[in-house]
Amino acid sequence: MTALDHPALRAFTAQIRDELAVAQVLIRRTKHGFELRHVDDRDRAEKTLRELKLTDLRALVQFTAGRAFRPLKSAPNLQTGWVLRLNDDTELESALNLIYPGAIADWFAAQPPQPPVSHYREFTHRQTGMYRITTLLSDAQAGQVARACCHPQFCLKRRLWTVNGLTPDAGEGKSLIPCLEPCPLLLEFARKAVRVEQEEKLKLELSPGEAATLTAALQIALATPDTRGNLREADFNAPGNPRRLRLLLEKLAALPIKPTVSAED
Ligand code: SF4
Repeated sequence: MTALDHPALRAFTAQIRDELAVAQVLIRRTKHGFELRHVDDRDRAEKTLRELKLTDLRALVQFTAGRAFRPLKSAPNLQTGWVLRLNDDTELESALNLIYPGAIADWFAAQPPQPPVSHYREFTHRQTGMYRITTLLSDAQAGQVARACCHPQFCLKRRLWTVNGLTPDAGEGKSLIPCLEPCPLLLEFARKAVRVEQEEKLKLELSPGEAATLTAALQIALATPDTRGNLREADFNAPGNPRRLRLLLEKLAALPIKPTVSAED
């Protein structure tokens, strides 16, 4: 199939003038078709990059540079250091489908003013079995889960689905790839959030200063890369999972804490 009889591909390639960034991939038009590389390699000389074939992409996108499995292909941890030359639109579509599955189709679907979005409530009400409990989160809790799980630190798709009280992603730090419904990773994270909510609560009183210290500690932990590779992205049973840290930050931010000024200040 060529772009001529593929409206989504035709509309997408029309967006590419000299170049176009799609999440972490830079697409450039060339005399013979297209060239793809990581956006961080924009200014690197071609000869310093590893030349890939289309058939190499599947292996490239499975793992980070540290060989950790990538359960979410839209996570901002695509390996750098490669270049891929493509002959035509069809090869471009195949390549993008390997790097960001469904990106062109979803981008095209999101062009009309009313895109076909499945919001949190309708999506979770369709779930059966172990994911049925994701309906138990309140709107505020589901909003915190979404803000934590879909944060630009973890995912480059622009979330269009919402729940009451949560607006769609404004686009800052995100890409042109839309997210039209909660993904399996979000669903699993929501399930874990329900389980955590169902645990017997500890009573812990925090002064505003202590809450500020806890917030700072979480921010430091989130900014510190996991160089030992101990934290698997989708292991939400690990208390130190970065999305769990970010969810706790969301909960702290929602506390009605008033800044206090001590006598010495
Ligand atoms: S639900 Fe969130 S984490 Fe999952 S793909 Fe969409 S934006 Fe990304």
